[in-house]
Amino acid sequence: MTSINLGNVLIRSDLNVPINNGKILDNFRIIKSVEYVQKIENISKNITFISHLGRPKGIESSLSLKPVADEISKLLNRDVTFINENIYEEIENLFKTRNKEIFLLENLRFNEGEITNENKFAKKLAKPFDTFILDAFGASHREHASIVGIGNYLDSYQGPLMSKEIEELDKVLSKTKGTFSIILGGAKISDKLGLIKNLLPRVNNLLIGGGMCFTFLKALGHNIGNSLCDDELIISAKEILESADGKKIILPIDFGVTKSIVSNKREDIVLSDFRDDHIGIDIGTQTVNKFQEILSKSKTIFWNGPMGIFEVDEFSYGTKEITKAIAEMKVYSIVGGGDSVNAINKFSSLDKFNHVSTGGGASLEYLEGKALPGVNIYNQLII
Ligand code: AMP
Repeated sequence: MTSINLGNVLIRSDLNVPINNGKILDNFRIIKSVEYVQKIENISKNITFISHLGRPKGIESSLSLKPVADEISKLLNRDVTFINENIYEEIENLFKTRNKEIFLLENLRFNEGEITNENKFAKKLAKPFDTFILDAFGASHREHASIVGIGNYLDSYQGPLMSKEIEELDKVLSKTKGTFSIILGGAKISDKLGLIKNLLPRVNNLLIGGGMCFTFLKALGHNIGNSLCDDELIISAKEILESADGKKIILPIDFGVTKSIVSNKREDIVLSDFRDDHIGIDIGTQTVNKFQEILSKSKTIFWNGPMGIFEVDEFSYGTKEITKAIAEMKVYSIVGGGDSVNAINKFSSLDKFNHVSTGGGASLEYLEGKALPGVNIYNQLII
């Protein structure tokens, strides 16, 4: 592969990171996206990154990728030219005089044609470039111009980060040897039910904490007070629990609760002590111990979602303990992205986990068994 020259390369990355008032709150996706720059640079003329950020309606300055250009520049310790939409069409001219430079284009979603996968937009985007690399696993569940449409106009490859994500998530889908445990949390049960249905036959233990456990507990007839519950999904939760595999599902037995989330006041109770005004905000000590024991006997763990409202110190106990425990275990650990990454950054360190996905929503959909529009549609770029 090193003998080829890719010319002016366009890399579709997932640089969709939380930004507040121009300040990047979490640069994990950016770090992973620029990891391969040096290797790709050896076989290219210039490298240009593209990405979406948020869900703008037209051009919204608060969703500009400019802070990301500054962050890439900081991480790589070199200049990054940011191309805003006004000089977008001049990029071809720029390339005539630039060599071995890094560019970042403005938020793709400022262009209507991006999410409608418009051919005209894909063609315009492709024009200044020789090669396209799709390396945005986190956006691969979208049938957008910068994912699929652009492949009609350029020599296209699947990038190394994206291939690594697929390889790691395939380990979860194919069930490795030995005990395999999944631990799920977070607020939304809706985006994880598909994954549960798909993976339940392959898994030995499914531990459920976070806000999503309360829909399951209510389905079993328990009082959950004012805790988060998706009433429309109680029947689905019940069906899963009643299925032959339901016995693999382990739910919390004790909880941190509060009467007002803003008060930050915590009380610890067992399940039978739930009162109508209690809101479950964390798992309790007995549950942490039980979960740790099961996880420690596993060979592979897939983890997605915090065990409670971990952003608030008083409600973070369960997430903190589970994060630290998995980090220290001799297991193969795969983390599904999203808020679990924030929890790891807060309570442990990313290098203590075997694979941390940049994917979030895309990893959940992939693990549901869905064929994602952008996955494995281009040949792998081996560098
Ligand atoms: P998700 O995007 O579904 O993974 O949800 C992540 C969010 O779930 C985090 O911001 C947590 O604060 C929140 N969360 C976790 N446990 C609870 C709970 N028991 N009640 C309300 N929110 C929760």
